[in-house]
Parts: sequence; structure tokens; C-alpha cells
Amino acid sequence: MKPSDKQNRKNSLLERTTALLRKSGLRARKNLGQHFLVDEEILGLILSTAELTVKDIVVEIGPGLGVLTEELCRRAGRVITVEIDDRLAVNLNRRLSEYHNLTVINRDILKIPPPELFAEAGIVSSAFKVVANLPYYITSPVLRYFLEAELRSEMMVVMVQKEVAEEIAAQPGKKSLLSLGIQLYGQSEIVKHVPAECFYPEPAVDSAIVKIVPYKVSPVDIPDTEKFFTFVRAGFSAARKQLVNSFSNGLGVSKSNVQELLDNAGILGSRRAETLSLEEWAHLWRIYEEGKRS
Ligand code: SAM
Repeated sequence: MKPSDKQNRKNSLLERTTALLRKSGLRARKNLGQHFLVDEEILGLILSTAELTVKDIVVEIGPGLGVLTEELCRRAGRVITVEIDDRLAVNLNRRLSEYHNLTVINRDILKIPPPELFAEAGIVSSAFKVVANLPYYITSPVLRYFLEAELRSEMMVVMVQKEVAEEIAAQPGKKSLLSLGIQLYGQSEIVKHVPAECFYPEPAVDSAIVKIVPYKVSPVDIPDTEKFFTFVRAGFSAARKQLVNSFSNGLGVSKSNVQELLDNAGILGSRRAETLSLEEWAHLWRIYEEGKRS
């Protein structure tokens, strides 16, 4: 594609977006993370990554003006979209009224228990995909909301802040609580980096499309994830320190006890939390729990 074609396509979606805002008398509310996608190539990439068919049920968070929503309605069997902003939800219901496969829920996604999403749309909960250009201020809780839900999604294709995308897909050496949290539930990859100019109004940060495919069976067996993450959090309590020190701080136990735990697990106390793989964390936690029982 010639650069001028690319520019034209961006301009046309930008013009459509500003016209939609003008027509409905609305303004983007930055406190709700309202940065609308105005690049058609990126829109197309989100859709092709989600591999939608008419058999799919899609959940979208934050439809905004509904540019992505409309394309989802054209491709999927059912679309459930959740918008916190009353004015956008009313506008969307009016603008996309011809799509009978669309349900707009005007609520805060984090205040709806997952099964209610489907109940509101009159769907008996079943396999679904999540496709969204997320409001960045709630990225982690939204990801957790879907990954920890009893009914797991088949696939998530989400736009997130670039730094968060890099954290999600991090390899050992750069692992964080967030990356371990995601990797416990699924396999993730960065599909594409997306510069700030692909949105209107432009956010202060760059973005990336991330694809997460939740596991049917997790690669590690963690019977109590809450306890596990309390333990991992203790290990990250001083992330740049050696494990023996950060665990001693985080768990409130002596360094010699921590050293014994690490020796039993065959993990060097001089390592740092961000270098451990998910499997190593799981192994270390099991030995810690066994130690508490004996
Ligand atoms: N999907 C549109 C697009 O791609 O142009 C808009 C995406 S914009 C980044 C995020 C959207 O999420 C906004 O419409 C915002 O009002 C909505 N939103 C923010 N917080 C929300 C929440 N807690 N629950 C549901 N929607 C929310």
C-alpha cells in the first residue's frame, strides 16, 4: 500500500469519528479512557486476529462510538458490549439499532458478575471471545475479571498500553506480578505495536494489540491462587533485591529460614524475583506450603 493510501484510510476513520462526535454532541472523556481508534488498518488487524465467525459470541468492553462494535456485529453471531458512559450507550443503541445480534449493557464492567453478562443478553453462558480496545485505567482488573472467571473465554484480543503489553508477554528475566498472573491462565503474544496517533484524541502513551489464549488446563497446578499470589507478591516486595532479602522482608521471616526454603527448592538466593519462571514459582510455593504443614 502506498503511504498516501494509508494516510487516506486513517483520515477517513478520523473524519467519521469526529463527525460521529459532532452529530451526537459528545466529547471524549479522558477520565474514562476515551481514546477512539481511528486507524482502519489496526481495526482490520484486531478483527482478523480474533478470527470471527457467525458461531462466535463476542464480549466487548467499552464500545465508545461503536466503530469496532459495528464490525463485530457484521462478523460474529452475537455481540455483548458493556459501556459505562450513559451518553455513549444511548447513542450506540440508536446508531446500531439495525443489528439484532447486539446487546448494549450500560454499566461498569467491573461491577457485573461474569454470568450476568450472558443473562442480560438472554444467552445461556457458553464459549465466547473478548475483543476490545480497553480503557487503560482498568486494564489489569479487566484482564483478571475474564481470566479468573469460572467460564473462560476462548480468546482475548485486546488493545492495551504498550508497556503493559510488554509486561504481559515478558520472558523470565523481566517477569512481573502481572505477567505471571496472565501466564498462569493463558498464552499471550504481542500482535502489533500501535502508535498514539492511531487514536483520537491521542493518548500520552503508545499501545499494542495483545492476543491471549486461555489454557484449558493450566501448565502448573495451583490449588489456591490467592495464597499463591500472596506468596509471589512477597517475593516481589523488593523486586530488584536478591530473593533471600525480598522474601525475608515480604514474608517477615529470618534470612536463614528463607535461605533454607530456597535451598530445598534448589533456587539460588542471589537470584531476583523477575528472573523466576512460572514453573519455578509454583515449585517454590509448593515447598513453602509443605514446610508450613510439617
Ligand atoms: N471501542 C472504542 C474504540 O475503539 O474507539 C472506544 C475505546 S476507549 C479506549 C474505551 C471505552 O471504554 C470508552 O468508551 C469508555 O467510556 C469505556 N469505559 C471506560 N471505563 C469503563 C468501565 N468501567 N466499564 C465499561 N466501559 C468503560
